[in-house]
Amino acid sequence: MATITLDHIVKKYGDGFPAVNDVSLDIKDGEFVILVGPSGCGKSTLLRMIVGLEDITDGDLTIGGTRVNDKAPRDRNLAMVFQNYALYPHLSVFENIAFPLRLAKGKHSDEEVERRVREAADLLELREHLERKPANLSGGQRQRVAMGRAIVRQADAFLFDEPLSNLDAKLRGQMRTEIARMQRRLGTTTVYVTHDQTEAMTLGDRVAVLRKGELQQVASPRELYEEP
Ligand code: ADP
Ligand code: ADP
Repeated sequence: MATITLDHIVKKYGDGFPAVNDVSLDIKDGEFVILVGPSGCGKSTLLRMIVGLEDITDGDLTIGGTRVNDKAPRDRNLAMVFQNYALYPHLSVFENIAFPLRLAKGKHSDEEVERRVREAADLLELREHLERKPANLSGGQRQRVAMGRAIVRQADAFLFDEPLSNLDAKLRGQMRTEIARMQRRLGTTTVYVTHDQTEAMTLGDRVAVLRKGELQQVASPRELYEEP
């Protein structure tokens, strides 16, 4: 678990108008923050800067008290879940979930990998499917595998980029409940980008509203969405 502090963060692609403009936000240990805003307002860019896939033009990014602007993604210990799952088609569910642990060479014994993968599979109700290939899973199950891969890393924070937008409405509802349950159980700091107002209203401790790269408002879902 970790705090994430954005201090006057700016991102410019080329000479144009900044994609992210002077964003400051303190995310508490274990907090679940939702990032909303119209298409093109800078949500993905902000998430990608936090995880380290995009350089920060200006400002300071601090994770767990350490400035990480110049740290490679692998040194930030964050777990990102994408909307397209990014699963490996030739690997079983077990190996897809185990993948981040296999990459960290020499660090994890086979017993440790087995234990962590089974724990994640239990949490996500994937126990029965560990030997299957992604092609033989439903969309919801694939999304769970992607979440399993995030869980086994025992990362300091989860970053979700519209993880449910490819699922149908019924499944979205189910997965929403599961993500909420998983986050509460693990207590892991979470930043979650979505277009979906129901997700924003039900999942987050706080909702941050981005508009044209600027943070317009940060409020509890209740303050933001309920009539006064
Ligand atoms: P959102 O996730 O809210 O839809 P993005 O972060 O994807 O917004 O984009 C924010 C702005 O930055 C947009 O104007 C977009 O066109 C621009 N942008 C995003 N990625 C790049 C890139 N790689 N190169 C240039 N401009 C980009
Ligand atoms: P590793 O560092 O585990 O060997 P890769 O070489 O696949 O992983 O990727 C380099 C780094 O990019 C990873 O260490 C990790 O920090 C980051 N990364 C890769 N995939 C993800 C992901 N899904 N979520 C967060 N970070 C990731």
